[in-house]
Amino acid sequence: MVNHVERFAPSPTGLLHLGHAYSALTAFEAARDAGGTFLVRVEDIDTTRARPEYEAAIFDDLAWLGITWEQPVLRQSERFGAYQAALDDLKVRDLIYPCFCTRKEINAAMSAPHHDGSATGPDGPAYPGTCRALPVDAARLAHAPYALRLNMRKAVASVGGAGIVKKLSFKELGKGPNGERKKVNLDPGYLIESCGDIVLARKETPASYHLSVVLDDAFQQITHITRGQDLFAATFIHRLLQALFGRPTPLYRHHRLITDEAGKRLAKRDDARSIQAFRADGATPEDVRKLLGMRT
Ligand code: GLU
Repeated sequence: MVNHVERFAPSPTGLLHLGHAYSALTAFEAARDAGGTFLVRVEDIDTTRARPEYEAAIFDDLAWLGITWEQPVLRQSERFGAYQAALDDLKVRDLIYPCFCTRKEINAAMSAPHHDGSATGPDGPAYPGTCRALPVDAARLAHAPYALRLNMRKAVASVGGAGIVKKLSFKELGKGPNGERKKVNLDPGYLIESCGDIVLARKETPASYHLSVVLDDAFQQITHITRGQDLFAATFIHRLLQALFGRPTPLYRHHRLITDEAGKRLAKRDDARSIQAFRADGATPEDVRKLLGMRT
């Protein structure tokens, strides 16, 4: 059996649109052509937004596109224990801290005159660090909502510091948004200054996208990750988390983004572009492939 395991990891918080179809078809075909395995993982970690109707619609669209996948499907809602164990591990290593800031407070701190708000990572501007050095306050922890943030500077130090981080790389089989190809090295300055202390868990979501995706890809022994170039910057964080947790690094294939006629990236809320809408209009799977510029 060839060691080629791909996954498509939709969040059941909306309908699949053309961009998702492109990711899913590209990953599925890469696995099939290599004689490997294709998995679908339901990223239903945000239990406030995930809906069973969307999950059913996603499965239905994937099957309609001609995609088949292994059963059973893994749902992130079954993995909360694993995420908690990873957070406990980071806590013991003193690499995470609770952050009580509201979005409003963060925005206010970033618009303060001394703050250089220029650095932006995949989750937006880097957190200004207000709660980083707070003394432990058990009463506040018990009563106030908080997020858990990774202390990025310490995390980089713990995988060996800037020199080693530069040696951490991932192999790009596709292309990054700036034409990055082949071997992509991690940039410690980008991680510390631009990504900053990213959120790894919140009260309502027990693991962030970055944490859950890294743990789940390792758990499912994914060898190849196919996804859009919009997630290229997130891959730097994922590579660092893999190093922190001692997990293997898959190969990455970031693909071009599917845009509308105006060149705007498609979003879940563009329901008019959903696969369901194309189907309702009588489109065939071949029509969708043509629209995506794929072989029919
Ligand atoms: N649930 C994520 C999304 O739909 C998965 C991204 C990934 O492939 O890592 O954007």
